Amino acid sequence: MATIADTALAGRAPAAPRFDFSRLAGLDAAQRLKRSALQFADADIVVDLGDSIGSGHWWRGLATLGALTAAALALGTSLPTLPGAVPPAQPEALRAESRAIGIGPLALGSPSARRAPPTPLARRLAEAPERPRVELSANVGSGGLEGALRRAGVGREDLDRLFAQLSGIANPRGVKPGTGVTIVLGRRETKAVPRPLEFLSFRANFETKVEARRGAEGQLVVKPIAIKIDNTPLRVTGVVGASLERSARAAGLPASVVQEYVRQLGYALDVHRDVGKRDRFEIIVAHRRAETGETEMGRLLYAGLLNGRSNISLMRWGDKGEFFWQTGEAVRKGLMKTPVAGARQTSGFGMRFHPVLGYSRMHKGVDFGAPRGTPILASSGGKVVFAGWGGGYGNVVVLDHGKGIRTRYAHMHRIGVKNGQQVGQGQSIGQVGSTGLSTGPHLHYEVWANGTAVDPRSVKFFGGAQQLGGRDLARFKGEMSRLKAIPASD
Ligand SMILES: [Zn+2]
Repeated sequence: MATIADTALAGRAPAAPRFDFSRLAGLDAAQRLKRSALQFADADIVVDLGDSIGSGHWWRGLATLGALTAAALALGTSLPTLPGAVPPAQPEALRAESRAIGIGPLALGSPSARRAPPTPLARRLAEAPERPRVELSANVGSGGLEGALRRAGVGREDLDRLFAQLSGIANPRGVKPGTGVTIVLGRRETKAVPRPLEFLSFRANFETKVEARRGAEGQLVVKPIAIKIDNTPLRVTGVVGASLERSARAAGLPASVVQEYVRQLGYALDVHRDVGKRDRFEIIVAHRRAETGETEMGRLLYAGLLNGRSNISLMRWGDKGEFFWQTGEAVRKGLMKTPVAGARQTSGFGMRFHPVLGYSRMHKGVDFGAPRGTPILASSGGKVVFAGWGGGYGNVVVLDHGKGIRTRYAHMHRIGVKNGQQVGQGQSIGQVGSTGLSTGPHLHYEVWANGTAVDPRSVKFFGGAQQLGGRDLARFKGEMSRLKAIPASD
């Protein structure tokens, strides 16, 4: 009997042996068992349940399926779960400990550490140990060097010894506020006494540094150290531009030097009339440059103005610090051209229409416009012969300079001198105002020579100006060419 599988697979694969239940009939039990065991090994356990439904073969397939399903279900539900990552059990005390030393957000209330009380092994010290050496840096303040050292903890004895030795080297009072002081204090026996001064270093003045050291026998050794200084003066030149003062200040010169420059120039010319925008100023000042980098500007040494026409060269010379022309003639002679600092001549000498009186008349002086309160300077040294109210002149001062020369300063806001008083050239005698017949704050300035009003600009000399001569003049000229040879730093 051919099975369905035989026919289906005929010609494609050798026919698989088949268990034939019908052949079991008629055989004895042993034989059948043997045969069935042999044939079972060859049995086809993969049965297509879509074929020969209801046949013995089909039933056997169904039974196999049922048995396998039942076995799978039975095994699937009874298998134990596989072990995963399970944290080892931790006692509560250990957990609290790890929480205390763990890092958690403090904001959430986590303790950052656990406090440990001292154990019986901890012993209390009689006193805290001190550092054997203390290095300090202090700054000299309003209390001077002594105050700074005392504040740093230097003892009275050390201070006295230090200042006694310092007296021959530098003036401790001359130490500038803000100066840095390096202090090293040593070991002391008890806390009741100040630490001994081991080392001290500070700059006593521009050219000296002072070092104090504790010697082998405990004495203080104070030693001055000279700082190298370059004394080459500073030569500054530049274009006048809109304002001589402002341009000179912008070139880095201090206000005091610029003021002095304008003052000395004022003896030589009318600073606000005779100085052009394109002129060049030439200023030489004393200057010190320390090797440590600090600089210090001194006083004006040379005042020059290059205007291409009549260049001005003035140099300081002599004990009095007067300025002289390159010819050796003193510049401070006669009258100052501008008796008001920073003023501009607004009206000249001669016939003019009087703004208050309303008709033309002789203007016997020159007017300088300046704000109320600007100081008025004596244009030369002399004696006050009148100081008070002068009618149309308002508050007026008259100076007698001798040799028949008098000057009058009118419309003053305030008078600063008294009748009979002696005044020096450039000294303030009052303030610019608008008293008397005046339309606004200005100085009306007159010069009288032997009873006649003269144009102040025409008065060049009266009395003899100091004149250098001989060897002094030669030295003066040598010094001037030396100064002018300094390279300009504009
Ligand atoms: Zn006037």
